[in-house]
Amino acid sequence: MLKTTITGSLPKPAWLAEPETLWAPWAADDPARLEEAKHDAVRLAIRDQEEAGIDIVTDGEQSRQHFVHGILEKIEGIDFEKKTRIGIRDDRYDADCPTVVSELKRSGPIHAEEVAFARAQTDHALKFTMPGPMTIVDTLADEHYGDRPKMAMAFAEILNQEARELVAAGVDNIQFDEPAFNVYLDAVPTWGVEALNRAVEGLDCTTAVHICYGYGIEANLQWKATLGDVWDQYEAILPALSESDIDQVSLEFAGSRVPLEVIRLLDGKKDVLVGAIDVTTLTAEAPEEVAQVIRAAMEFTSPERIFPCTNCGMVPLPRAVSRGKLKALGAGAALVRAEL
Ligand code: ZN
Repeated sequence: MLKTTITGSLPKPAWLAEPETLWAPWAADDPARLEEAKHDAVRLAIRDQEEAGIDIVTDGEQSRQHFVHGILEKIEGIDFEKKTRIGIRDDRYDADCPTVVSELKRSGPIHAEEVAFARAQTDHALKFTMPGPMTIVDTLADEHYGDRPKMAMAFAEILNQEARELVAAGVDNIQFDEPAFNVYLDAVPTWGVEALNRAVEGLDCTTAVHICYGYGIEANLQWKATLGDVWDQYEAILPALSESDIDQVSLEFAGSRVPLEVIRLLDGKKDVLVGAIDVTTLTAEAPEEVAQVIRAAMEFTSPERIFPCTNCGMVPLPRAVSRGKLKALGAGAALVRAEL
């Protein structure tokens, strides 16, 4: 009970990529050296999680430059040379995004080798993360589909093909990251959930969706400042997610203005990955602080449904801070487990 996990990413070592930077360039140009550096970083990422007492581990997303664009590099129909500057997350920030120029198609396996490598490094349950359809659609320029739901369904099919192979390669848990769900609230109950259901169709593993308020970068901090005293985005979307085919929902609670009562909206039908680590601060939580969030969550769902987790990815953080936060998460969950 109270098995711990993380949302996905961990900081990269300086010999792999520039630290504390999103979209950081790789340190090595030579493909063989880069491959070796990625592997070494994955081993460290897994070891750090195991040592901290994290039960369901990830590869720390060490092999991808960005959580969305990593998978897109191997999908046909996207022109990476054709970067278009668009406002993403409802114009919260501008980004130079690749452009969809023709029918989307997966040209072959994308993450299978990464999963096989990670699988061989640990006996723990292994989780693998991919961007969800709505978030992908929101991070690309489109010159072909002209219709966001239609393009989302095309990506959902590709994600599903990929996910089936990853399960065959030994993944226990597939998580789709949908930060866009917190932005386009009206679209979640309609095509957002529909595309997500398509992405997890027939998967023989635990499935999760991660929805958050983002990394601690300036644009996000400014956005959060406009959201008022109570953040009610989850309230709008969780009823639809409680009816979805997803097994687990990853939510942020540590240091945020989200009322824990929203957990009730999942109606006891979904596991909750309870964000008990704030990724916007540069100090590790005390285990007791983590324990308090978990205990508070237990007022709204049973401990069997609770998986203590981080609020979001930790890739922009200094490594020492991230390691401290991992340890706090493991230790905090252990405190509460001892009370059960
Ligand atoms: Zn997140």
